[in-house]
Amino acid sequence: MKNERVALFPGSFDPFTNGHLDLVRRAALLFSRVIVAVAHNPAKTSLFTPEERVKLIRESVANLTNVEVIYFAGLVVDCATQNRAQVIIRGLRAVSDFEFEFQMALMNRRLSPGLEIAFLMPSQEYTYLNSTLVKEVAKHGGRIRGLVPAPVEKRLLAKFGRRRPAAARKKKKA
Ligand code: ADP
Repeated sequence: MKNERVALFPGSFDPFTNGHLDLVRRAALLFSRVIVAVAHNPAKTSLFTPEERVKLIRESVANLTNVEVIYFAGLVVDCATQNRAQVIIRGLRAVSDFEFEFQMALMNRRLSPGLEIAFLMPSQEYTYLNSTLVKEVAKHGGRIRGLVPAPVEKRLLAKFGRRRPAAARKKKKA
């Protein structure tokens, strides 16, 4: 399509959270196509492989017809060019995100002057949410319902197990 507006939403998504999903939903209303691009960075240790992350995101956005999920290695700007995206989407949760995002945006603009970088803000309830925090909570058996889409919750529970309610633990000890 000639006037198609394509946005690329790059990130680690290790794992994809409801904060990420909130941004994808917002972007899907603004653009004709949204491509969620999972970064494959072998130097970074991740909980899920890029393939697993792509699969989980695909399951989580299955109802959004103009959203696709891919994975990429290398520069975000190259991935955007290869996929004919005119805009890169990033999220801003708090002022603390700003400095890093600002540097990255300016570097990406330098690398690819025609590319626009757009920032979206999630709903307030997700502003404290990040993947690292979700992993920590899941690892120690905390409740992650409502923080991540259902397919991600299921996968995290399969990986780390479910903590038994405190009452059940006490009974066993007695
Ligand atoms: P990266 O390693 O590229 O920062 P992340 O998966 O941590 O990858 O984040 C990808 C993008 O999603 C970033 O722009 C980040 O600011 C945004 N993001 C992360 N968590 C949230 C959230 N809870 N709400 C909105 N945006 C978020």
